[in-house]
Amino acid sequence: MDANTPKVPKPLVLVAFEDAKRRQVVCDVLDQFGLCTLTTADGKAAVDQFLKFLPDAVLLDDQIQAPDEIAACKSIRALDTGCETAIFIVTERDDKQAVERAFSFGATDVIEQPISLSVLPHRIQNAIEMARSLSDLTGLIRAIPDLIFVVNENGEVQDGLSGPDATHTLQLKALTTASKINFYPCENDDRAIACIRRALETGKPQVYEHVLEGLGIHLETRFVTRDKNTVLAIVRDITERKSAEAEIYNLAYFDVLTELPNRELFSQSLERTIKIAKRDKQKFAVLFIDLDRFKRINDTLGHSIGDKLLKDVARRLATCIRATDSVALVDHVECGAIRLARLGGDEFVIKLYGIEAEETVAMIASRVIQALTPPFTCAGHQFVVTPSIGIALYPQDGQTGEELLMSADSAMYRAKNTGRNNYKFYSETMRTKSLHRLDLENLIRTAIEEEQFELHYQPKVDAESGRLVGAEALLRWPHPERGAIGPDEFIPIAEETGLIVPIGRWVLREACNQVKVWSTSPIGAVPVSVNISSHQFRDSGLVEDVFGALSDAGIDASFLELEITESVLLQDETRTLVALNVLKEAGISLSIDDFGTGYSSLSYLKRFPIDTIKIDRSFVKDLHKEADDAAICAAILAMAQQLGLNVVAEGVETMQQLEFLRSHGCNHIQGFIFSKALSATEFYAMLVKIAKESAEQLEKNLATA
Ligand code: C2E
Ligand code: MG
Ligand code: MG
Repeated sequence: MDANTPKVPKPLVLVAFEDAKRRQVVCDVLDQFGLCTLTTADGKAAVDQFLKFLPDAVLLDDQIQAPDEIAACKSIRALDTGCETAIFIVTERDDKQAVERAFSFGATDVIEQPISLSVLPHRIQNAIEMARSLSDLTGLIRAIPDLIFVVNENGEVQDGLSGPDATHTLQLKALTTASKINFYPCENDDRAIACIRRALETGKPQVYEHVLEGLGIHLETRFVTRDKNTVLAIVRDITERKSAEAEIYNLAYFDVLTELPNRELFSQSLERTIKIAKRDKQKFAVLFIDLDRFKRINDTLGHSIGDKLLKDVARRLATCIRATDSVALVDHVECGAIRLARLGGDEFVIKLYGIEAEETVAMIASRVIQALTPPFTCAGHQFVVTPSIGIALYPQDGQTGEELLMSADSAMYRAKNTGRNNYKFYSETMRTKSLHRLDLENLIRTAIEEEQFELHYQPKVDAESGRLVGAEALLRWPHPERGAIGPDEFIPIAEETGLIVPIGRWVLREACNQVKVWSTSPIGAVPVSVNISSHQFRDSGLVEDVFGALSDAGIDASFLELEITESVLLQDETRTLVALNVLKEAGISLSIDDFGTGYSSLSYLKRFPIDTIKIDRSFVKDLHKEADDAAICAAILAMAQQLGLNVVAEGVETMQQLEFLRSHGCNHIQGFIFSKALSATEFYAMLVKIAKESAEQLEKNLATA
């Protein structure tokens, strides 16, 4: 024998024979076969020995007495440890009565006299093995936490097999066997019966799940074929697994904060809705809701207040949806109940199914706005949160869920750009626009990488003398394939995408370098004005960028002016004020561009360190035609004089405009009347020309003197 093979103890056989010689013969045969033996001569000793040694098999001779072999067999069987032991009783040949008796009192087998010594050990060995398998099986059944029934093809329970452990795990301790049957899917459950028949027909196990209503217990029943007519129904309590599954599902598909469906679940439901809408030729709407200025609340008051606010918003939106039900806008059942979801951050989305009229959608959008109108109270603070809503309609605004969401999203952007707290429908024109936008965005990125941008410089002159006082740097984009793309077209996109920050940084450096170049001209350096977008102000690096550009170019700060719009002054007052003061103290001039078109809160003219205001060219344009425009220009000039501010009029094209501005005390003008924006080379040439002209003039003056 291999030393590694585990030693299995040899089976032990108790030989209870009265006759010592017979006993010896049998023991010798069994020993030779490899079985261990133990002997006794009477019934009582046999039972005692059994209790003491727990043999695997017992051989009882019909000669033993006190008690006899039948009584001994009965006693052993009655023991807990003896119910599965192989017990053989030796009988006289053809003693039918003795055979009957032996079996009826629990004998495993009967051995007739004369005993065949060659067969005997094999029969004993087989019986021991079978008894062991049976005991394993019973142990197994006892140990598994399932209820096992034998069931016929009509689902009727024929027998129950499971042990006490199953009732324990199934939390059914208190139940009787009869009521345990309740845990087996009912006999008149058609689905269960169909599974049973399928198991019988195919021979393959079938799985069936059902819930015990009221108890909240989930059960899984496996039907496994047992024979031609019956199956085993193995019932398992899967309540825990189900609740774990539900938890995983919740984590994957619901937003933890608001408990609303998340983007994933919404997207899935959107695809389903599209399928149904296509089939039923129905329309539906997607409302994309974004909270205005939520980020500011979150940043300034902290995330816990932000979170609380989002929860409250979700709650109000949910009531909105419920309110729509009462207007008979009940969602198509098949479309699922998902009509409100949180996509992330401060973005929510609502799906309205089966709506014919755009007016109805619009009405619900206004209802959302109304629902969010009353101030929210969090931790003693009161906030007003307004939404911007973009609406996309199926089928016209998108064929897939993704397209619809994108359309609704860009409609939302339009709502935001047109004053917030409102809603906008997406339309086909918007789609082409947004495609164009996307296209431009990519082109801008390439332009930055490939340095396609140029700066042109528009001269600013003194209104009285016509003397050059400075230049405004204006971006030009001569696209290699598309030709010139105007700043009005690409700057808004550069701003939306944040690309204005790197572009603006480049403009600052380029303009400062140009001043350095001009300083070599015959008339020396000329101050330059650079347009700064409000986005650059939001980016904290602006002040460093400005100082970096100045020192790298090696020019004095007094040669740089920054043009900002009124919106900059409104954005984050304290931060802006600090930044502007730092710039101002360094010697940089500040001017307000497009004055009069923005919010025109005059108080900031006093509060911020402004040097110059630039009257927007829309007022200058119709000066001589529109009395209002003339009045506005006159008023701005008068006010500027009072405040001691310098004024530049933009877009001056005619003598009439020039005369008017001059007579009202405008200091400087900028416009086609003097020059359009010039390339750097053209501008330098102009400087040379001016120097030459003034030299000639000087010469003339000297000559006439
Ligand atoms: P802006 O700063 O108000 O610039 C003045 C605009 O008026 C320029 O348009 C200029 O070419 C135009 N203009 C000047 N004189 C006349 C005139 O007599 N008649 C007419 N019809 N137009 C005149 P441009 O170059 O197309 O720039 C448009 C806007 O793009 C600028 O308005 C400015 O807001 C923005 N922009 C241009 N360059 C930059 C830049 O480098 N950075 C930033 N952030 N914005 C820039
Ligand atoms: Mg400007
Ligand atoms: Mg302007």
